[in-house]
Amino acid sequence: MESVNPATGDVIATYDGHDRAAVESALSDAAERFESWAARPIQERCRLLERTADLLRERVDEYAELMTREMGKPVDQARAEVEKCAWVCDYYAERAPEQLADEVIGTEADARTLVSYEPLGPVLAVMPWNFPLWQVFRFAAPNLVAGNVGLLKHASNVPGCALAIEEVLHDAGVPEGAFTTLLIGSDRVDDVIADGRVRAVTLTGSEPAGRAVAETAGRELKKTVLELGGSDPFVVLDDAPIAETAEKAAYARTQNNGQSCIAAKRFVVHTDAYDEFVGAFASELDALTVGDPTDEDTDVGPQAREDLMRELHDQVERTVEAGATLSLGGEPLDREGPYYPPTLLTDVPVDSPAATEETFGPVAAVFEVADEAEALALANDTSFGLGASVWTDDLDRGERFARRFDAGCCFVNEYVKSDPRVPFGGVKNSGYGRELSRHGIREFVNRNTIWVQ
Ligand code: NAP
Repeated sequence: MESVNPATGDVIATYDGHDRAAVESALSDAAERFESWAARPIQERCRLLERTADLLRERVDEYAELMTREMGKPVDQARAEVEKCAWVCDYYAERAPEQLADEVIGTEADARTLVSYEPLGPVLAVMPWNFPLWQVFRFAAPNLVAGNVGLLKHASNVPGCALAIEEVLHDAGVPEGAFTTLLIGSDRVDDVIADGRVRAVTLTGSEPAGRAVAETAGRELKKTVLELGGSDPFVVLDDAPIAETAEKAAYARTQNNGQSCIAAKRFVVHTDAYDEFVGAFASELDALTVGDPTDEDTDVGPQAREDLMRELHDQVERTVEAGATLSLGGEPLDREGPYYPPTLLTDVPVDSPAATEETFGPVAAVFEVADEAEALALANDTSFGLGASVWTDDLDRGERFARRFDAGCCFVNEYVKSDPRVPFGGVKNSGYGRELSRHGIREFVNRNTIWVQ
């Protein structure tokens, strides 16, 4: 497996993939380790998560630089990602004992009835490259503390990050077998899911990958959580404060080089705010610094791979051919590396690619609507349902609107973000199940009913 720096095209490192014997040994170690890991008191597992958080903070620069080298994320955003991984470890170390405590339920006067939350066993996590540490830690922290053991199949372009995650957990004292990175391609995932020792699978990634994994897991009757793509609407109502909203809009679209499932992708703007918002939004996007991701001043680095940038550019070209106006950007930069500038498309037809497909890069599609009802209908007119935000001066109006979004994470006057304290996940083709908070830690546990008469 090769790890290539997208900013320079240099091969950073090559890794030997795991052959069948290595995967077999990892599965057998995981199954064996599960028995002793699950039997430990939860407080012991919490202490190891706290230690992991400490190590992540100590190594913040090392891991941030690794992510930036492997997938081009601006280094200040990479540091924030490492800090967030430490936060989710601390969060579950503190809250898991209460979240997984027995739930006593009153039934018969002479019976004791309760639900106990028991770990399932080895869980396979198939993960994407875009937040190479965070996506894995938001799976690993709750599952390890709940007593499950983890098997990670990370995206093929971030093997260094995959091994670094295994390293930091082991250095913190999480034993061999409790968390293992499998360096395998996606063509080997089916065999791992089908293995009798693997009890469940979670995938964060694209819709096609989610469908493939769910199909195999369905055949094997294994529980899945799917965190898939999104085409989040960002709805600007007529009373939104324009300058502040435009500034947030630019960040919401271009964070992580625009390669975020919950980046705002479709900007649905009330006609009374339209001209002012589009002008301010264009200025904000135009002011962003595109460049070397290791430079502290860079806002937008390269796209993670050349093929992904070509795909994004093709979506822009097809949207313009369908009738959209290219108001900003729209051409790969004339320099080494797959750099794509912040791009603004206006007058976007509702059946064009930027309206119906996920655009995974810094490309914003703007739509003008006559009123609130049209804004809501257009916001929900998508096969995805991950996040959504609405911007208004009236908080009650905003909350009423947010409740009618057909999505899993709905925000008023804030861009969509994940936070360990609140559940995260989607509906429709964005997947199902939840990560984070007490909802996430209860996805891969047996809710065991105990009735003592
Ligand atoms: P991807 O191509 O779907 O890959 C994700 C993971 O799935 C990788 O490990 C990949 O392995 C594996 N995979 C791909 N096809 C597979 C198959 N047929 N069977 C089994 N495994 C398969 O996605 P990506 O390009 O890495 O990430 C971008 C996508 O992830 C976007 O759609 C984004 O919206 C979504 N995403 C969603 C969330 C969320 O929380 N909802 C968060 C982040 C990203 P290989 O690398 O070896 O192909």
